[in-house]
Amino acid sequence: MRIALFPGSFDPFTKGHEDIVLRALALFDQVIIGIGNNVNKQRYFSLDTMKFHIEECFAEQENVKVIAYDDLTARTARELGARFLLRGLRNTTDFEYENGISQVNRFVYEEIETVFLITSPHLAPISSSIIRDLHRYGQNVDDFLPYDLLEKSET
Ligand code: ADP
Repeated sequence: MRIALFPGSFDPFTKGHEDIVLRALALFDQVIIGIGNNVNKQRYFSLDTMKFHIEECFAEQENVKVIAYDDLTARTARELGARFLLRGLRNTTDFEYENGISQVNRFVYEEIETVFLITSPHLAPISSSIIRDLHRYGQNVDDFLPYDLLEKSET
């Protein structure tokens, strides 16, 4: 079984992330969305809320699972039986960052392969940080999210 772990902060999970997951289902038997739960990193949208919304998005897809984890990503993948990491690439800045991370992940778990999907052009401008900024100043962000936000404001 080809299992891919899609790791990220997903703060929040966006239509760009959803697109990556849906396209990856053509490549993998199962996609596990892993919400990185770093205790040292303060989230804007709570982990529980985001997990709820992501599960809601993929309620119809039995081969999509959502977990939260607080460990090295590559180690988490190995424990889940996932030999693939899934990441999205929007631009060269993403590439520079991802290049380094994927090398480190292979240092931790030699057999891991990171698979990159290039963003769909209409979703390329979407980033979680821009959505947080818009939301913080009261701008409606529904157009960027594949679900209706439960929490209208946090932190
Ligand atoms: P991280 O904090 O680990 O970078 P993010 O939640 O910001 O986590 O992103 C997770 C993954 O999704 C990354 O590979 C990122 O490049 C990708 N991604 C983010 N936004 C988009 C988008 N609009 N289209 C495609 N991929 C995206």
